[in-house]
Amino acid sequence: MTDKPLSGRRAVITGGSRGIGRAVTLELASMGADVDIVYAGATQAAEQTCALAREAGVKARVRQCDVSNWASVREVCDAIQADGGVDILVNNAGIVKDALLLRLSEEDLDTVLAVDLKGAIAMTRHLVRSLLRSPHGRLITVSSVIALMGNIGQANYAAAKAGLIGFTKSMALELCGRAVTCNVVAPGFITTDMTANLPEKQRLSLLETIPLKRMGTPEEVAHVVAFLASDQASYITGQVLQVDGGMRI
Ligand code: NAD
Repeated sequence: MTDKPLSGRRAVITGGSRGIGRAVTLELASMGADVDIVYAGATQAAEQTCALAREAGVKARVRQCDVSNWASVREVCDAIQADGGVDILVNNAGIVKDALLLRLSEEDLDTVLAVDLKGAIAMTRHLVRSLLRSPHGRLITVSSVIALMGNIGQANYAAAKAGLIGFTKSMALELCGRAVTCNVVAPGFITTDMTANLPEKQRLSLLETIPLKRMGTPEEVAHVVAFLASDQASYITGQVLQVDGGMRI
């Protein structure tokens, strides 16, 4: 199949098993990219996403790896490179451990920084040679609108997600010599497991802050990631694209 825009390209999506990562995986697969789903935890969800991706006629694989563990990341990235490497790296894996700063534990600070920030840097560090060799290299990082506006009870998450913006802009400068574009997608309030357990009162007051008056869908984020991965976005680098219904205008 050569008629799809990403045919012959290989994408690695961290946290690709569910939520936004699953939508990204399926959209990139529908555009013809082979996909590697890097995930931690629920194998069944990862296998399901993988099976759905294969229905698009592409190669799809699951790779269990805790992105906060440098050695595990190196091992999985070595395996990805041995299997042909990567053209599109989507650093999407992320967690929250919310607490007001007065109650924030060292463990919850370290865990969120390690998964959300160090994980993306580790993945990029271990796949960067492969990205540099690609004629269509793309680094796409999923941050959050919270990185740009802050949030009560999310100091650790906001710090990690803001760190991703500085990291990605630095990569845009480091990798531009080989035409690898590096961009950030900053979603607002999206319907996934991450937001499923918000108390109703908090959900309603959050909706009040969104000009479009609704939560976004994982697919609405995936469309933007897919655009950045495509040739149409070849002259965009170092940017932060908000997908937030106008939450931060
Ligand atoms: P989710 O909880 O549905 O999925 C998270 C994914 O990350 C899962 O696939 C999980 O396996 C993976 N993951 C978690 N810890 C990992 C680890 N240590 N190593 C490897 N993989 C790990 O979350 P989601 O809502 O789909 O969020 C995806 C990304 O989008 C996250 O980075 C999140 O911060 C960001 N985001 C989400 C929202 C939202 O409203 N849902 C808003 C802004 C940003």
